[in-house]
Amino acid sequence: MESLLGIDEARSLVLERVRVLEQESVPLSAASGRVLAQPVRAPVDLPPFDSSAMDGFAVRAGDTPGRLAVVAASAAGRPSGHELQPGEAAPIATGAVVPAGADAVVPVERTETLDGAVAVEAVVPGDNVRPRAGDIAAGEVIAAPGTGLSPWTVGALAAVGLAAVDCARRPRVSVLPTGTELRAPGETLGPGEIYEANSFLLRAQLTEAGAEVKTLDPVADDEAATLRALERGLERDVLVTSGGVSVGRHDLVRASLAALGVEEVFWRVAVRPGKPVVFGTRGTTLVFGLPGNPVSSLVGFELFVRPALLALQGASDPGPRWLPGRLGAGVRRNLERDQLVRARRRFGADAVVLDPVAGDESHMIARAARADALVRVARGEGELAAGSPVSYLAG
Ligand code: AMP
Ligand code: MG
Repeated sequence: MESLLGIDEARSLVLERVRVLEQESVPLSAASGRVLAQPVRAPVDLPPFDSSAMDGFAVRAGDTPGRLAVVAASAAGRPSGHELQPGEAAPIATGAVVPAGADAVVPVERTETLDGAVAVEAVVPGDNVRPRAGDIAAGEVIAAPGTGLSPWTVGALAAVGLAAVDCARRPRVSVLPTGTELRAPGETLGPGEIYEANSFLLRAQLTEAGAEVKTLDPVADDEAATLRALERGLERDVLVTSGGVSVGRHDLVRASLAALGVEEVFWRVAVRPGKPVVFGTRGTTLVFGLPGNPVSSLVGFELFVRPALLALQGASDPGPRWLPGRLGAGVRRNLERDQLVRARRRFGADAVVLDPVAGDESHMIARAARADALVRVARGEGELAAGSPVSYLAG
């Protein structure tokens, strides 16, 4: 029995060859999903001043409970400038500066307005005051290099006043579908033709992974045309091809890549679907040849291409991010290859339960689209029983 390269070894071979792309300044409005290149420190305290957590009255706690004289109000963005004296209460809005002299805020529900005065219930110092720097202090690290910027992080960066952050530039990726049989969606199929799905699938996956994508026109299974198209694709940081990497007479991609000076790092991995995946490099360009069956393409992308893209952007953990779950139904193992089984997630009482979807062949993209997880079923004999712990990738 031939011994195939394992998924994890293949992933390491890819990541070893990744060099992080150069940095650029990214405006915050475009930073979501990007990877930070430098540690970011808060330039200001957050909050920048002691501020009120409630609408109410700023007081000296020692004056409460009691009847206090009402003085100048403090509204958000409009500090009164009045220093609170003993026996005084300043009307205050949420987010407004707590005036000097005050040390607590009595919420309006716990006050009663009288003529020119206010009766307040008891509070202790610090009540309903958000202290300056209580969230983060100026100079503290708010996000570390290698962090993928989530919407939450983007919000935090804005809150400390940063207009831009340094990130690795986005990888420029070309996608080349190969196959004489391919027709663009929207056109009418001729005899023996099928719709070209993979470049759309790949564009969506690539964009999500931070890439700038350029799809080249599908190329027929013709040597000269394939060489020309590949040469164009090789101009970018990453070239992802689809189809033409098996052992058929019309599978021209590997030989053409070799003719163009691409050094093949591996071909064929112990994975089902997606075994004939090929990976190579030319200079700093990474080349992934994914098999043409759409589910094979999908799987090859998640296992090898997405991690490479994140690593190019300097991600500290480029994945794939395996999550724990339990198999909802038994799955027959494959003797030689780890399987990536399409499944639907159910959130059980104490585990994510993964129910395989019917139809596990690599051309069945419509069935795969009903799934939201890829479950890893390690190679071996017999069946992996329902309830077995497994790892999966979220779709
Ligand atoms: P290949 O890897 O070129 O042998 O193709 C394997 C299978 O995938 C064949 O049935 C092809 O018709 C199909 N296929 C190849 N490329 C695409 C594509 N871009 N979109 C949809 N199906 C494809
Ligand atoms: Mg083909």
